[in-house]
Amino acid sequence: MTTPPADPVQEAAMTDAAEMLWVVLANVSGGDWTKQTAEWQEAAARWRDNYFAALKAQSVPPVPADPVQEAIDCPWCGVVVKQVASATLSIALWQHVNWVCEVQKALRERAASERKEEQS
Ligand SMILES: [Zn+2]
Repeated sequence: MTTPPADPVQEAAMTDAAEMLWVVLANVSGGDWTKQTAEWQEAAARWRDNYFAALKAQSVPPVPADPVQEAIDCPWCGVVVKQVASATLSIALWQHVNWVCEVQKALRERAASERKEEQS
């Protein structure tokens, strides 16, 4: 059996949905997963691990961070990113860089508009 070619529009929608789910999941009980049942925590952690393994395979790698550190400065904009209970610091920084960081956002927008110019 061969795998059908991936539909990029559908793939992007799935990526967005997965991101949204992670945001919701990470913030359950204000980010304190210990308030949930052990079964819930286990299932959520399994989903998180799979999700971040999939992200690692994508083009924007998480920025490596010291796992014992509790906060790190964003290398692009200098904002201090703090670890939350349910995620490691590298994940928190990855979220900042990919979703919040204004410097990274500007860089991505510039790259996207340059790609558009090349196509036209
Ligand atoms: Zn930043």
